[in-house]
Amino acid sequence: MERTVLVVGAGGLGCAVLPLLAAHGLRIRVYDADVVSLDNLQRQLLFRTADVGRPKVEAAADALARLFPGARIEAVGERLVPEDFPAVLEGVDVVLDGSDNFPTRFLVNDACVLAGKPLVHGGILRFTGQVMAILPGQTACYRCLFEDLPPAGAVPSCSEAGVLGALCGIVGARMVAQARAILEGRPAGDELWIHDARTGRTRMVPLSRDERCAVCGDAPTIVNLDAARYVEARAA
Ligand SMILES: [Zn+2]
Repeated sequence: MERTVLVVGAGGLGCAVLPLLAAHGLRIRVYDADVVSLDNLQRQLLFRTADVGRPKVEAAADALARLFPGARIEAVGERLVPEDFPAVLEGVDVVLDGSDNFPTRFLVNDACVLAGKPLVHGGILRFTGQVMAILPGQTACYRCLFEDLPPAGAVPSCSEAGVLGALCGIVGARMVAQARAILEGRPAGDELWIHDARTGRTRMVPLSRDERCAVCGDAPTIVNLDAARYVEARAA
């Protein structure tokens, strides 16, 4: 049966997961509003120097078409916003979130929980990466763990703090393995996978759904995607 995945972000993690997903023959819908910049090239390996200045989703779709002539990619050069849901999830079997900002991560988490759609979250910073598979109503969700958006600037972004290029490949491969597990009906595990690229050590932190979670708890207070919720508060 034909399967469709939604990939949020075509940056370091997006570039790592996209070729693996295309190689698995999955139909791909990908969102990213950025253009390729020169400093992306050390870790975003789908892009070439000639792509600098082009929308990332366009350059990524071209690269995948070269690698896999039969690849089916729907490339959307926009940032995902609350109004895109639930339509953007239509026909999607699993979501892979490799976005680079907290508003998008919380938005994607809440949208997937509300729609009952499986989600694989991936994150990277400097030398550390994390992956978490979220099965709404069964496993912990991103909000069970992190509750709410940090103030703007409280956590440095990848472009500010830097990220080890090789880590994108490691974390992206783990994300795709988890997405495959979900598509094949194998248990994805209720845990946070954390990898430190300096030591090569991987830890599995057991998780469980927080019954007081605002979106997946027993008495949720988040029941829709109110746009005001997905804006970073400015640090005072
Ligand atoms: Zn939750």
